[in-house]
Amino acid sequence: MERASARALESPSSPQRIGRRQGLKARDVRYARQVRFAGIGEDGQTRLMTGHAAIVGVGALGCVIANHLARAGVGKLTLVDRDIVDRSNLQRQMLYDEADAESETPKAITAASRLTAINSGIEVIPRVTDLNAFNVETMLASTDIVLDGTDNFSARYLLNEFSVKSGIPWIYGGAVGASGMTMTIVPGTTPCLRCLFPEPPGGGTLDTCETTGVLSPIVDTIGSAQAMEAIKLLSGRSETLHGSLLQIDLWRQQWHSLGVAGARRVDCPVCAERRFDILDGEAGFETATASLCGRNTVQVLPPRPLSLDLRSLESRLGHAGQTELTPYSLRLRLPSGIAFLLFPDGRALVMGTEDDQTARRIYAEFLGE
Ligand SMILES: [Zn+2]
Repeated sequence: MERASARALESPSSPQRIGRRQGLKARDVRYARQVRFAGIGEDGQTRLMTGHAAIVGVGALGCVIANHLARAGVGKLTLVDRDIVDRSNLQRQMLYDEADAESETPKAITAASRLTAINSGIEVIPRVTDLNAFNVETMLASTDIVLDGTDNFSARYLLNEFSVKSGIPWIYGGAVGASGMTMTIVPGTTPCLRCLFPEPPGGGTLDTCETTGVLSPIVDTIGSAQAMEAIKLLSGRSETLHGSLLQIDLWRQQWHSLGVAGARRVDCPVCAERRFDILDGEAGFETATASLCGRNTVQVLPPRPLSLDLRSLESRLGHAGQTELTPYSLRLRLPSGIAFLLFPDGRALVMGTEDDQTARRIYAEFLGE
């Protein structure tokens, strides 16, 4: 849409007016109800159409956010996700269906094609990768806003550091059980996530969607609140942001809005002292693993990103089990029942185990250290 509106503005004679008219022609029916809303108007719509939002994690929250922003006409969406669609996702991840789970397609790819079908006028960029200290700056540098669709605090602390360092706002969101919370972080204006959560909340006892489960309506509510904040920011109405840590429990009917205006900490390592320990410090000299929530899957990351030729690996690994090569990955099904899904950057999903050591061992077996 950025391209479309740029094209419109380039048209000859009275470019501004004709551009606007052409732009409106292209979007009048589609965005009519949104443009009519006083808070958005034509100007807000034009801003939305030239905006660029990144959604990190296209699971439950990410699907809701991406769906709203695509329909609202946000010009460019970058979708970052490391996982594939699984049958256990279908209860709440609204951009996916049974065929996607059957084919185990990467979520970023599936979501991108669905969003393009919903709105062909926007640009959707899928990134099948694990966002980490190595790639976060290149991946997100050109965005206007970052939305949190992740499910863990390591990723959120990384996004928080990136946001404060780069000055790009981000919108935290999390949901588990029937409750969730969200907060909008505008660097230099609001507190950052570390001001409110100096340590990951709950530590080892933190509820996760795996231990507690999660119901679909709360995901929708929190994701919608995040999307609304993004629409406000992208349409130039930042004065209307909710300015709170919004906590909602749909099972108990509890809505709390905790004002955060005075919550900036003078000793916050990130936004006060501008120390970016995760961004600068993650040495990454060894293979890292992470268990994917509720998936019986362990992700293995090589010490540094690789550039693998999956086709030649397929012929090399063929003896070990059944292989399947797709445009995005190489799958190896081992006789033990464990499946090994390898991406070109050397990242792997070891499916059928929750044990880090087993995952590391299998990874080392096929790719060396
Ligand atoms: Zn802070």
